[in-house]
Amino acid sequence: MAAGYTPVDLNNRFITSPDPRALVRRAEEMGLPRTLCAWIKGIYAWALEHPEVETIVAVTQGDCSNTHGLMELLQEAGRRVIAFDYPHGRRPEPLCAALEELARQLGTDLHAAEAVRRRLADLRRDLARLDQMTWRDGLVSGRENHLWLVGASDFEGDAQDYHRRLKDFLDQAAGRRPRRPGLRLGLLGVPPIIDDLHQALEEMGAAVVYNEVPRQFAMLPADSPDQDLVDQYHRYTYPYDVFWRLQDISRQVRRRNIHGLVHYTQAFCFRQMQDLVMRRHLKVPLLTIEGDRVAPVDGRTQTRLEAFLELLQQHHPLAGPAGPGRIEPTSH
Ligand code: SF4
Repeated sequence: MAAGYTPVDLNNRFITSPDPRALVRRAEEMGLPRTLCAWIKGIYAWALEHPEVETIVAVTQGDCSNTHGLMELLQEAGRRVIAFDYPHGRRPEPLCAALEELARQLGTDLHAAEAVRRRLADLRRDLARLDQMTWRDGLVSGRENHLWLVGASDFEGDAQDYHRRLKDFLDQAAGRRPRRPGLRLGLLGVPPIIDDLHQALEEMGAAVVYNEVPRQFAMLPADSPDQDLVDQYHRYTYPYDVFWRLQDISRQVRRRNIHGLVHYTQAFCFRQMQDLVMRRHLKVPLLTIEGDRVAPVDGRTQTRLEAFLELLQQHHPLAGPAGPGRIEPTSH
């Protein structure tokens, strides 16, 4: 933004496109294997259809093990690709150097980027309020929380407009009847490609009060007011090791009084391996589910979710189902 570009999150554009299933099919018709994550295929097909996205920042360390291959395909398609690495070990000095280099390649510097970061502070504070209205006040649904927080990765291309719509949404949500407390869930892992997971859980009587990775994508304000851009990217848990993520998850589980966790994993994703560590370290019941294609919750996953919620209900009989003060999801 400091360099005058419009940020475009390719994941979001793919999944909110009119027919994301068709994009995955198209990538397979072009030759990408069935055994490759559907997000990568969707992003590739979407990017090919949108040549106006001229420059692509490829996170070659800290995001996805498939990025190198995707980067080569997009380079071959004529795009300018800039690699960005989150430093292994989460050390601030190489992170600062990586941010400086990214700024340089885009034709700006960290001073200008810091000024933009400060301009976005109010917007991030409002996103933090939205998050609080989800877990503390029961006024925002887990699905709405997810949509707003993942949207914050690029502010849907226009931060001012995004903020205006967010404020309208918060005013409207403040007037709602609060949800009755029920089973409280956290959703861990990459954003689910299953398109109705939050609604399915709501219909089963559970409230998603924590969307782990979307909350990270939104980079909500830290408690300390004197942080800068490097601190912000240093605090971010998603690109670093699973142990750093676990600290954040454990803190949020306690803070939000979470009864159980659902760990969403994506078929053919290297992050599935982190599930083992999560199971060993997290102190609340955890169910792991897997998604592959853009599709609604399938029968098998539905049954496993129901059985998990039944188990949680036995441990927390006073929680009861989260309704009928259930919050109707609205799209933004
Ligand atoms: S789900 Fe995993 S494999 Fe797929 S794009 Fe995300 S990090 Fe990469």
